Amino acid sequence: MNIRSKALSTLLVLSSQIRLSMSWRSSGNSNAELVTNMKKNGLFSSNRVGEAMLAVDRGDFTNNNPYEDRPQTIGFNATISAPHMHAAALEALKDHFVAGANALDVGSGSGFLAACMAQMVGPNRTVVGIEHIPQLVEMSKKNVAKHHRNLLENQNLILVEGDGRLGYPSKAPYMAIHVGAAAKEIPPQLIEQLAEGGRMVIPVEKSVGEQYFLQVEKVNGQVRQKAIESVIYVPLTSREKQLGIE
Ligand code: SAH
Repeated sequence: MNIRSKALSTLLVLSSQIRLSMSWRSSGNSNAELVTNMKKNGLFSSNRVGEAMLAVDRGDFTNNNPYEDRPQTIGFNATISAPHMHAAALEALKDHFVAGANALDVGSGSGFLAACMAQMVGPNRTVVGIEHIPQLVEMSKKNVAKHHRNLLENQNLILVEGDGRLGYPSKAPYMAIHVGAAAKEIPPQLIEQLAEGGRMVIPVEKSVGEQYFLQVEKVNGQVRQKAIESVIYVPLTSREKQLGIE
């Protein structure tokens, strides 16, 4: 590693440690308290992000201390990500949830983030949540239906079973893509399905135990990427590997 990339890596680790220490202070006794605390602690700044996270109650997506700012297990070796990571993803993508454009959530798990994304894309557009564990797809539909059945009925949100590494071509291109599991490298199909002017955020594992949240953009057909912070996500992998049956 050269000096420049060493310095960058140290900076990213530091910035995520600062976020982590703030996140511990953001837990609340209700969804509203959690979201208010995260905003107060600077974990996101946009009102649109706050409104989406207030509208979608994390308590509908896990029974396990839903208002603590930490990930929780949802079975099948998967987790619902920590609220501050959901906030960071929505903040990074907020300007790409625009009228007339679809969005994709790869590894949609509990369905929480996909539901927030659907709140932000607005009517007449579709957010696709793709997840490879069928039981989680069913669970996510039930979770969303608790208070947001309309999103599913209007097809503002579709939750499908499939290998998210291949994207979901029939609703492409996407102005915003979120990947909720760490890839070894960015799947080429996701780059293909990213719209011109679009943005993807994806955790990528550079080496064992070293993951970065990358922001990838397509501008004039060119793909640009930059690392945002160091993170810890479950792997983007095959169903068999995830379930330990390979
Ligand atoms: N963002 C979600 C889930 C995060 S955990 C939430 O916060 O609830 C990552 C999810 O990615 C898990 O549900 C896991 O099953 C899924 N996953 C991993 N590899 C995948 C793949 N190849 N295709 C689709 N989903 C995948």
